[in-house]
Amino acid sequence: MAKLISVLDRYPEYETTIGMEVHVQLATKSKIFCSCANRITKEPNSNICNVCAGYPGALPVLNKAVINYAIAAGLATNCTISPTSTFDRKHYFYPDLPKNYQITQQYLPICLEGFVPIRLEDGSVKKIRLIRIHIEEDAGKNIHSSSSNESFVDLNRAGTPLLEMVSYPDVSSAYEARAYLKALRSIVQYLQICSGNMEEGAFRADTNISVRKKGTEKLGTKVELKNINSFKFISDAIDYEIERQIELLEGGGTVRQETRLWDDKNNKSIIMRSKEEAADYRFFQDPDLPIIQIDEIQLEQVKGSMPELPHNKFDRFVAQNGLSPYEAEILIEDRELANYYEKAFESAQSKQIVNWILRDVMGYLKEHKLELNQCKVTPEKLAAIVTMVENGKINGHAAKEVFNIVAETGGNPADIVKEKGLEQIGSQDELAAIVKEILAAHPENVALYKSGKDRVFGFFVGQAMQKTQGKGDPKVIQDLLKKYLSE
Ligand SMILES: [Zn+2]
Repeated sequence: MAKLISVLDRYPEYETTIGMEVHVQLATKSKIFCSCANRITKEPNSNICNVCAGYPGALPVLNKAVINYAIAAGLATNCTISPTSTFDRKHYFYPDLPKNYQITQQYLPICLEGFVPIRLEDGSVKKIRLIRIHIEEDAGKNIHSSSSNESFVDLNRAGTPLLEMVSYPDVSSAYEARAYLKALRSIVQYLQICSGNMEEGAFRADTNISVRKKGTEKLGTKVELKNINSFKFISDAIDYEIERQIELLEGGGTVRQETRLWDDKNNKSIIMRSKEEAADYRFFQDPDLPIIQIDEIQLEQVKGSMPELPHNKFDRFVAQNGLSPYEAEILIEDRELANYYEKAFESAQSKQIVNWILRDVMGYLKEHKLELNQCKVTPEKLAAIVTMVENGKINGHAAKEVFNIVAETGGNPADIVKEKGLEQIGSQDELAAIVKEILAAHPENVALYKSGKDRVFGFFVGQAMQKTQGKGDPKVIQDLLKKYLSE
């Protein structure tokens, strides 16, 4: 693959350091501190109770599933799981948080010091280190009316369990930021602890970006880019911000510490607030919640229930199934697609399986705007089509036709081949008879061929395909023609 062009290529004397804070909404059945369902609810304030709406005196009760999800995320990202961790209150005033503090883990987070391996453009692996993963609750949402100049508060989201995964500033380009987020998103999806849906905000990233001249020891002033909700915007926003900061410095200015938002309509970042002083959140340990103790037994239980992780699957696909890193990368990025491939490959251990998936299955889904689970060509049916091609029962042309019919109707590939009479006229003897017949009927062209006019070879192939109604194996026909013409 060609190296992607990075903004930094234009400013070779600069480098950038990027730290990422990723918020992962956990897909537990109920919210973190109450029994309200943890799901997206349309009707505002219809999925709340005294606890998540922050009534004074309401007592939180910890949802234990959240702890197991956090442990799984920590183990999957090579973190140390703290035997003891606590919940703290982070105080601030905001309408979408009526109790005026958010419950988080400031002092003793549940996971410490891990790393996530990412693959770079040249195929090498880089480790992005994690400082910590902590558990916290999400706030509600403020909704600002564009027509009436009013604002509303919807607390349905309040109390949704979140993990915040905080990295060291190890990311050094937009490409790496994207690779890191994709790797992280795959991990939480494989663990089935988060939907990974970025548009719904279930997986969202804040990015701290700074630039400095190479060789400078001190990090540059960091600017925070908030809540970007697509991979494309993340690349665009980071590249824009790197260039904005370098140009500021080149022009003799200074970068101010501030929080910016990405305006995807105009492709630029805009200032949201300046961050001259660190806010004082007056953290203290929440007296309403117990100290979390995690022992070896619980750790082993979570470990035992974890699936194969995406980077391990990648290694296995390449080493054992003979996929190229490019093919493996596309498959593992989507857990469902990887599972689809595995099922199909189980039924037909052919190198062709991956080609059919990347070209035909994905092409069909894209064209018809379908999800993989809506695809009528099941892994078993795809394997059946590929097997028929490999056994010489049908040729590639017929296989495409069968694929399209199965995709439309969900029919059985073998039955379709029979009904449509798509079997290849495959036996060597049958085809040999046809070839001999054609040569005998066109002695003048045989003479031309033998006198060196190679072009008439195409004529013979065309005749043979016509005789077999397109069902002859072209490769066999060509071999037979060559054989008899040289006699
Ligand atoms: Zn509630």
